[in-house]
Amino acid sequence: MTTLDGIRRPEYTGERRCWPCTVVNVVIVVAAGAALYVAGYPLVAGVVAVLGLLGIWARGYVVPYTPRFAPRLAAALGLGDTFGHGDTFGHGDGPPQELGGSLGGDADPDAVVDTLLRADVLAEDEAGLYMTDEFRTRWRDAMEPLQEATLDELAEAVMGVRMDADVRAERNERGEYVVVASHDGNRLHDAWLTRPVVIAEVAGVNALAGSGLTREAQLVAVEPLRSFLEACPDCGGPVEETTTVDCCGGPAGTAAEPDHVLACTDCDSRLFTFPTED
Ligand SMILES: [Zn+2]
Repeated sequence: MTTLDGIRRPEYTGERRCWPCTVVNVVIVVAAGAALYVAGYPLVAGVVAVLGLLGIWARGYVVPYTPRFAPRLAAALGLGDTFGHGDTFGHGDGPPQELGGSLGGDADPDAVVDTLLRADVLAEDEAGLYMTDEFRTRWRDAMEPLQEATLDELAEAVMGVRMDADVRAERNERGEYVVVASHDGNRLHDAWLTRPVVIAEVAGVNALAGSGLTREAQLVAVEPLRSFLEACPDCGGPVEETTTVDCCGGPAGTAAEPDHVLACTDCDSRLFTFPTED
């Protein structure tokens, strides 16, 4: 089993197996096998069928990007609700419980702060780090045009700064999101960004233009910048530090520790999740 363990994908198998994706894959593998058989390659057909089915068993799916195209396929065929999880199939292709999505990837926080100090975006005194007035004004000015934007326009704005990613607008019962799908090594990683996060981060990238930072450095800087928000990027409401129990429809009553967050008191949006110290 060791060989199979190496290619197993626990996130798509076992209890987390998505049966609709599995069915879609089995249909595709069987159809491919049948087509090869009919075309006069019975041996190849057998190998394709056996390897395909084995792969589905071990990895959840073998057709690349199934979790992304299968729900759309099902929706197009009018089968979306048949599977009982709307158009998402309920496997990670929905907003994560903890909405920590950001335009940029993870970076060393100290290095990011150093870069922002050198670019005069942040400054430091005895009381700690603060955002310079000049940058705060530039950031707020960059947010203004985005506040009026529709979700599709926001998705377009994200495309402009993340050309490497597959960006789409998603609306579901939990809200409106811009989803940024990109490859993180071999894994497909979806970041689900809420309106306030998109507005803050796209405006952040725009405001950082001309600061001497590379685009890559701008993208990793915009998430920590959100911890310096003094007003909601979307509705302009006041912000406060709180826990997810008190805002954002957070996980009250679950065993999970609530997150320490910065949230808008008007629209209840989570604007920043403070890192947990452990
Ligand atoms: Zn708000």
